[in-house]
Amino acid sequence: MSEPGAQEPRVREPGAHELRARAEKLDAEDALAHKRAEFVLDDAVYLDGNSLGALPAGVPDRVADVVRRQWGELRIRSWDESGWWTAPERIGDRIAPLVGTGPGRIVVGDSTSVNILKALVAAVRMAGEGRDEIVVDATTFPTDGYIAASAARLTGRTLRPVAPSEIPGALGDRTAAVLLNHVDYRTGRLHDLPSLTAAVHGAGALAVWDLCHSAGALPVGLDEHGVDLAVGCTYKYLNGGPGSPAYLYVRADLQSRFDSPLPGWNSHAEPFGMRAGYEPAEGALRGRVGTPDILSMLALEAALDVWRDVSVEAVRAKSLALTDFFLECVEAYVPRGRVESLTPAAHPERGSQVALRCDDAGDVMRRLIERGVVGDFRAPDVLRFGFTPLYVGFADAERAARVLGELLTA
Ligand SMILES: *Cc1c(COP(=O)(O)O)cnc(C)c1O
Repeated sequence: MSEPGAQEPRVREPGAHELRARAEKLDAEDALAHKRAEFVLDDAVYLDGNSLGALPAGVPDRVADVVRRQWGELRIRSWDESGWWTAPERIGDRIAPLVGTGPGRIVVGDSTSVNILKALVAAVRMAGEGRDEIVVDATTFPTDGYIAASAARLTGRTLRPVAPSEIPGALGDRTAAVLLNHVDYRTGRLHDLPSLTAAVHGAGALAVWDLCHSAGALPVGLDEHGVDLAVGCTYKYLNGGPGSPAYLYVRADLQSRFDSPLPGWNSHAEPFGMRAGYEPAEGALRGRVGTPDILSMLALEAALDVWRDVSVEAVRAKSLALTDFFLECVEAYVPRGRVESLTPAAHPERGSQVALRCDDAGDVMRRLIERGVVGDFRAPDVLRFGFTPLYVGFADAERAARVLGELLTA
């Protein structure tokens, strides 16, 4: 079904007919297929949900109600009557089961970048004076590295960037805290959270995990694996909308020792006491700072409704099936050697995206988008395709690979 003027790709086994038939069958058997109707989408194949999740269909009306009625009519009464004041904890409790924890441990607000600062400085303070090093994933998303460097300066520690595979060997009695990404944003590699957390604990240090590319795509198991602190954004696989607020997790038994570097009045034990002296609140709300961004936050709350009848395990199973199938279609449609997958083939090492190294990746992605296949380009040479199992199907995966093959068959 190539478009006029496009070249037919050189198809190897299995052929396009077989792959399309398989896609149809997989979509027909997909227990999550009905979820797509809960999102606002068009004919494009949207593989950029790892950057900005699609709009859940229930969000616009909810946001309109928040603006028109809660703000427009109730005005200041809404802080109580519409539940604005408690939204950061309430929405945190909605995210909790998606990352494997219970109520009272997550607070929503601020950006991921800001929460990294809170979590990392608090972790170093909990680790105690004798430990003078912060270890950071050397391949991390840039903001994590920048903020970690500032956290080190603020706390008088040394920042030590280490490749994830070498982190266990780099830990010792100097290590205060380790900042890690659950999934590498470029390659889609899933890091071993249970064993790395255990290694960090074995050295007597604290583990801070960035869940931006895992929450909503795969099980995280914060409680099960004893993670100390974690942060994540909500506009990727949680579909909260552009710039929707991030979240901060603090393990229950560490909450009383959580000493925020940003102790704003919203985290005070008695915020409306308007007292000169700071006294931290108990529990997750110690992670709050200032007045919450209610419009974004309540858009996120509405977006989380799509999870009502979905398990993260089912999402993970479909995610792996989708990325397996996409890789198989790429293998069949794209001329050999034209792209190289940077995403691990082994399931336990794979997140929910496929990253393909490709010459002229920027130009190739521009042309893919023109042909209705929306992924993104990460400098210098990576094509990223994010698979959000709630709204991406197997026919989408086949079409994306087929169009890529057509573009790269010259
Ligand atoms: C998306 C992402 C961020 C984004 O941080 P913001 O403060 O929301 O801009 C941070 N870290 C990682 C690993 C990410 O994937």
